[in-house]
Amino acid sequence: MDSYNLLTPGPVPMPKEIYEALSEPMVHHRTPQFEKSLSFCYQQLKKYFCTENDVFIHTSTGSGAMESAVVNLLSKSDEVLVVVSGKFGERWRDLCNVYGVHKVHCFEVEWGESLDIAKLESYLRSHPQISIVFTQYCETSTGALHPVKELAQMLNDRGDILLVVDAITALGAIELEMDKWGIDVVCAGSQKAFMMPTGLSFISLSSRAWKKNSSADLPRYYFDLRQERQALKKGQTFFSSAVSHVKALAAYFKFLEANGGLEGSIRRCKQLSAATLAALPHLHLKSFAMHPSPSLTAIELPVSIDGQKLRRDIENNDHVVFMGGQGPLTGKIIRMGHLGHIENKNFLQGIETLGQHLLECQHPISRQDIHNAIEVCKSHLTEVVK
Ligand SMILES: *Cc1c(COP(=O)(O)O)cnc(C)c1O
Repeated sequence: MDSYNLLTPGPVPMPKEIYEALSEPMVHHRTPQFEKSLSFCYQQLKKYFCTENDVFIHTSTGSGAMESAVVNLLSKSDEVLVVVSGKFGERWRDLCNVYGVHKVHCFEVEWGESLDIAKLESYLRSHPQISIVFTQYCETSTGALHPVKELAQMLNDRGDILLVVDAITALGAIELEMDKWGIDVVCAGSQKAFMMPTGLSFISLSSRAWKKNSSADLPRYYFDLRQERQALKKGQTFFSSAVSHVKALAAYFKFLEANGGLEGSIRRCKQLSAATLAALPHLHLKSFAMHPSPSLTAIELPVSIDGQKLRRDIENNDHVVFMGGQGPLTGKIIRMGHLGHIENKNFLQGIETLGQHLLECQHPISRQDIHNAIEVCKSHLTEVVK
């Protein structure tokens, strides 16, 4: 169905069930027929987030949920810390600054590395006014996974600092138990593990976060979760619902149920990640991230290769789509996504095409190496994707 083999960390390939849901006739959002789909989604989202708290749906890209987290939690006088380990960490920083938050500490982590909890803990000890920590679970610009469970544990042991997690490429790709781990805010987006088009974002707040919300004084209108909370009680969204997207979301949850559930989704990402990491040495390549996320692999390219040209050539000649690097990583990495409805043959085509283009760039590998990379991938791919 797809003319391009989409192997990016969002948007991702979609199963036919989602296309079908998107092409259903339009219905009004205040009808029992639609509200049934919406209620089903609200209920499924709670299971997906592993929380007893409400999960809200915004009609926005993932960054909307991030903005929602900031405006619904913070006051101008707050002192916050943002973990900056790549492009998306910078987004937390920029959001807090745009809204004029009094003090925004940037806890810089080398791009490609993961958060060192002990270092962060000692930083927090010497800055006792910090009341909230913002982080990514997976920093999609570098492919690095942060130890969010351990971070939540450390903050909960301290007892007074809230944790906000951008889990946009992590949820559905790796375990995340919002309530059990004690995370206060989780953000997600539809074009990642949800296998949907871009356009919905999701956010959930713990009871501690709601308490913080009651004193938050940043301006907010579209993303006011107090309004959404009232609407949700009636089984609605506050503004017009994105009807087709919500139906697609319902279709995703049904698809998921028939295909191994949340565990199945996590298992599949881990499998594609493990296959990719096992193939890289055969192609004389390595992961850019020290602790790679199962949702994507950022592949470090040798300096002799122009990553932008490589990516473009692969897309134009073979219709395989990878993402390049952003900011300082432009031309230096290519990123291969493992989220969404990726069929084995498309994944293998991605690895093979990458190998062939590297060969053409005089990268020191042979046809046999490419063959070996593919064979090692095949040995990881046990799952049949319908
Ligand atoms: C995709 C992504 C986002 C959201 O980006 P949008 O373009 O706003 O959907 C935010 N954080 C991370 C880590 C992401 O991967």
